Amino acid sequence: MIEIRQLEKKYVMGKDPQGAPNVVYALKGASLKIEDGEFVAIMGPSGSGKSTLMHILGLLDTPDSGSYLLNGKEVSALKEDELAVSRREAIGFIFQQFNLLPRMNALENVALPLLYSEKQLNTEKGKPPLEQVGLTPRAHHRPNELSGGQQQRVAIARALVNKPRMILADEPTGNLDSASEKEIMGILNQLNESGITIVIVTHEEEIGHQAHRLIRMRDGQIVSDEKTAHWKPRPPKQAPPLENLKPGKGKPLAEAWEYFHQGFKTLLANKIRTGLSMLGILIGVAAVVAMLALGRGAQKAIEAQLASLGSNLLVLRSGGMRVGGVSQGAGSVARLTTEDAAEIKDKVPGVSRTAPIVNGRGQITFLNKNWSTPQVLGVTPAYAQMHASEPDVGRFFSEDENLKRLRVAVIGRTIIRELFGEQNPIGEMIKVNKVNFQVIGILPEKGATGFRDQDDIVVIPVLTAMHRVFGKTYVDSIDIEAASASDTDTVQEASLKLMQSRHRIPVSQSDDAFQIRNMADIQAALSESSKTMGALLASIAAISLLVGGIGIMNIMLVSVTERTREIGLRKAIGAKRWDILSQFLAESIVISAVGGLIGILLGWGITVVLSKVAGWTTSISPSSVVMSFFFSASIGVIFGIYPARKASLLRPIDALRYE
Ligand code: ADP
Repeated sequence: MIEIRQLEKKYVMGKDPQGAPNVVYALKGASLKIEDGEFVAIMGPSGSGKSTLMHILGLLDTPDSGSYLLNGKEVSALKEDELAVSRREAIGFIFQQFNLLPRMNALENVALPLLYSEKQLNTEKGKPPLEQVGLTPRAHHRPNELSGGQQQRVAIARALVNKPRMILADEPTGNLDSASEKEIMGILNQLNESGITIVIVTHEEEIGHQAHRLIRMRDGQIVSDEKTAHWKPRPPKQAPPLENLKPGKGKPLAEAWEYFHQGFKTLLANKIRTGLSMLGILIGVAAVVAMLALGRGAQKAIEAQLASLGSNLLVLRSGGMRVGGVSQGAGSVARLTTEDAAEIKDKVPGVSRTAPIVNGRGQITFLNKNWSTPQVLGVTPAYAQMHASEPDVGRFFSEDENLKRLRVAVIGRTIIRELFGEQNPIGEMIKVNKVNFQVIGILPEKGATGFRDQDDIVVIPVLTAMHRVFGKTYVDSIDIEAASASDTDTVQEASLKLMQSRHRIPVSQSDDAFQIRNMADIQAALSESSKTMGALLASIAAISLLVGGIGIMNIMLVSVTERTREIGLRKAIGAKRWDILSQFLAESIVISAVGGLIGILLGWGITVVLSKVAGWTTSISPSSVVMSFFFSASIGVIFGIYPARKASLLRPIDALRYE
C-alpha cells in the first residue's frame, strides 16, 4: 500500500563561511515498501529524518524529489487540497503532543474530522471509536480534565473516525508514563489485528521491538530493515476496502450553519475578547441608528408643520433689490404695503385670503419681569385661520381693532411661562418694546421644530405694529392662500404681475423686485438640505464602521496567529483551504453581525431615552435598521477575508510545528 522510491527532502539553513548555501538533507534517497496490514516501527537517532519521513507518508509534507505511491496512486506531486482529501480518506495521524482542541470535549474532538469529510460534526458517529479506546465514560470531559494516556486514546479515536486503512503515529508514547505506554501499544496492536496498517516512529528500543518489522534510519537514509520476533508471515486479515468518503454535497445551507455554529462556540469560549472586538462595530451601528432616527424625526416634525400650513400657501416678499421705479424714485427698494395685500385678495382670481405680515424682535415686560422674544408678528385677523392659530383661550383681535390700531396682543405659551407662571394672563397689561398692550388671547401650543420655539411669539394687529411698535410704513411679507393647491402656480404668476404693475417695475428688473415662494419650493429646499444631512451622517457612519472593521481584522489576525497549531491540526485531519477560510470568515461575520444587532438595540435605546428625556422627535426607520445590520455583516466579510485567507494558506506541517 505504501511504496516510496528515492525520496529526498532538503533544507537550506543560512550560508557557510565561504558563502555557499548550507544544505541539510532530512531525507537522502529513502526507499521503502509497506504492505497492507503490517505493523512497522521506524527508529533512529535524533535528526536522522524519521519525522520528515512520517510527515511525507502522512501527506502533511511533500518531498523535493522521488516518488510516493499510496494505494497505487502517485501522491508526491498532489496539490494541497488534493492531499487534504487523500489524507482524510486513507490516513489517521497520531501526534506526540496529542493535538486535541482544548475547547472541545473528548467526543467532539473525536468527531472533528467528520466536519471535513461529511461537512457535519456528528457526535453520534464519534461514539463507536471512543468506545473502541475505552473512553465512553469520559466523552464529555475536556482534554485538560484527562490524563496524558487518555488524551492520546482520544487522539487515536479521532484518527479512527474516518475508518482509515492506515495509522501513522509519530512518537505516540513519547510524552507518556509506562502504564499509559502499555495501554496505547495495546490499542495499536488491536487495531493492527483488525487489519489496519500501523507505522510508528519511536526512539525506544522496547517499543520498536513490539512491532512486527523494525526499520532503522541514519542521516536521511534507511540503514536496516528487519523482522522482529512478532513477525507474522502474512497480514492477519485483508484490510477493509476503502470506503468512499465523499463530502456531503448539495447541502450548502447545512454546511454554512455548521460553520456558524462552530464560530459561535469558539467566540463564546472567549467572551471578553469577543466582546471587546465587537465594541467598534457596536458603537458604530448604534450611532448610525440613533443619528438616522434623530434626522428622520426632525424632518418629520418639519413636514408635519408644513402640512399644517397647507400646501396652497404662498409667501410674497420684496426682492430687497434696488430698482429704478418711477414711483419710488431711482435706486430705492420696492416695498410691500397692506394695500397690496388687499389688492391681491380682490384682483387675483383663485385667492381665498391674504395676510400682510410685519415681524421683528421684541422686549416683553410684565410687572418687573422681562423676556426677549425673536417673534413679534403684526398680522391681520386672516392670519389666524391661515396658520391654524385661533386662540384656545380668549380671542383673536378683529379687523376693526386693527384699523383703530388698538394695542391688543395674543401671546404664545412660552411667553406665558416666562412672564406669568401660573397666573392667568388674559386682561393683563404687558409692554412690547415699551408700548403697553392688553393680552386678549392665548395661541394654541405648536411645539418646537428643530430650530425654533414656535410658542415664543407675540401676535399684534399689523397697523399697530407698523405705526406704534416698529415705526415702519411697509410690511415685510404677504401670505397668500390659494383656494386650491392646483391654483398655486397661476396665483403666483398673477400676484407677481399685479405687484410689478402696481409698483411700476421696469420689465428689465421685474425678476428681482419681488420674490414669491410656495410651500412646494420650501419642501424642495428642505428635502435638499435633509439629503445633504443624510450624506453627512452616512459618511460619519461609514468611518465609524470602518474603524470597527479594522478592529475586527486586528483581533482575527491575532486569533489566526494564536491558533496556528489548531489550523495545522485541522488541516492534518482533512480540512481543505476553503474549510479553514470559511471557519475564520464565519467567526468574523458572527462578531460583526452580533455586534451589529446589539448596536441596533443600543441605538434604539438611545433614541427612546432622547425622545423621553430631551423631548426630541425621533423616528427609527426599519430600512435603516436592516441596512445597518447588513452593512455590519458585510464589514465582517470584508475585514475577515484577509486573516481567514492568511490562515487557509498555511502549510499543514508549518502550522503544526508553530511554537
Ligand atoms: P528526527 O525526527 O529523526 O529527529 P527530523 O526528520 O525531524 O529528524 O529532521 C531531520 C533533519 O532535517 C534534521 O537535521 C533537522 O534539523 C532537519 N529539519 C527538519 N525539519 C526542518 C525544517 N523545517 N527546517 C530546517 N531543517 C529541518
